[in-house]
Amino acid sequence: MKVYKFGGTSVGTVERMKHVAELISESTPKIVVLSATAGTTNHLEEIAANLFNRDIEQAHEKITRMEFQFIDFANELLTDESTKREAIDYILDRFQRLWQFINDEFTSIEEKEVLAQGELISTALLHFYLRERKIANILLSAFDFMRIGPDGEPDMEYIEKHLSELIKKYKGIPLFITQGFICKNAYNETDNLKRGGSDYTASLIGAAINAEEIQIWTDIDGMHNNDPRIVKNTTPIKKLSFEEAERLAYFGAKILHPFCIAPARQKDIPVRLLSSIEPQAEGTLISKSQDDRIIKAIAAKDSIFYLKFESNHALRPYLFTSKVFDTFARYQTSLCLLTSSSTDISIATDNNEALPRIIRELSKYANVTVEDHMSIISVVGNMKWQYTGFEAKIMEALKDIPLRMISYGSTNNDVSVVVKTSDKKKALQALSNSLFEDKMLV
Ligand code: ASP
Ligand code: MG
Repeated sequence: MKVYKFGGTSVGTVERMKHVAELISESTPKIVVLSATAGTTNHLEEIAANLFNRDIEQAHEKITRMEFQFIDFANELLTDESTKREAIDYILDRFQRLWQFINDEFTSIEEKEVLAQGELISTALLHFYLRERKIANILLSAFDFMRIGPDGEPDMEYIEKHLSELIKKYKGIPLFITQGFICKNAYNETDNLKRGGSDYTASLIGAAINAEEIQIWTDIDGMHNNDPRIVKNTTPIKKLSFEEAERLAYFGAKILHPFCIAPARQKDIPVRLLSSIEPQAEGTLISKSQDDRIIKAIAAKDSIFYLKFESNHALRPYLFTSKVFDTFARYQTSLCLLTSSSTDISIATDNNEALPRIIRELSKYANVTVEDHMSIISVVGNMKWQYTGFEAKIMEALKDIPLRMISYGSTNNDVSVVVKTSDKKKALQALSNSLFEDKMLV
């Protein structure tokens, strides 16, 4: 069995949704995971913010507009009158839920319920359309098997057990449709896997059923060797190892949710990135196999805080190091990048929630420098330390850009630097120009 995931733009219009139905109707047994239609989750987030602030007029207007849009969508998608009625009743039912929130108390629990409506509606619409086309399919509710534990991590045992039971129940049916992103939490409340989490749903499902392959369909023809929104002449990468893809997703390649590779890597399930607009394009294959090309791609992550801790020698060097890391751990703040020389430590993080408290505590032991509006730029590939020349090439490309931090050596898969976000575009273009003009490397 394979898992196919389609993103919001792939189902964003009636035309596109019909195209998806076309793509999935060949005979390979599969579970199809859908995002909400393009823009829906953003709108639902706005509605939730309005409800939270008791800005009822705004919420009212947005819910009304959305309700009409979905009814129009169903009217255009479906032709059979009774299926249309069923679909519209379902939409009205979902919106009934939203309307209730106008009067109710509104907390983060209700917010999650609001956000869930997008995926519930998109999957129902596809299910009705397939049924109208006489393509047998089962609509599975992600709430029946997708669950996170008290720590917010997926509860793999629960997911495996409940999903396999459901599939067994519908033995012989080759096509299942389900929602990405949404789940239940340990308290059986509606929850989600965070924005962009449908990719993660797909890989969790893939891992749970030991799928043959996980396909992530977007509107771009695979993972590109640099950010196509910023840099000219980027090209899709045909093959990546799990580790390389994981780095790229973590360091900002928007095409994939950062957590979605790990479950596939653990079960050795290939992940294929494909384009629903250009289905014949080869896309990117992510698998265990590691090829010899040294430099494969560049990614950038914004909203980074750079911190430098210079010891004031109040603590012995080994205690100073542990104090710094312990403090970050206590405030549950992960580090994206780290360098250290002698006792002094530089850290880049994207989580600023607890930074004021961390800085206050560590100021007793260190001079602290903080800079925001920074970006991490990562050059990713198969960069074994025994290979020579790639570091020099990267530094040469960046010779005109001030580098706040340089990191290599913790893995064989990336050389990363921290720059001011205002220098990011220049840095990305310079790296592309110099690293990818050499066909030996790409
Ligand atoms: N609909 C959700 C979002 O927009 C999940 C996803 O698309 O992956 O974040
Ligand atoms: Mg996405």
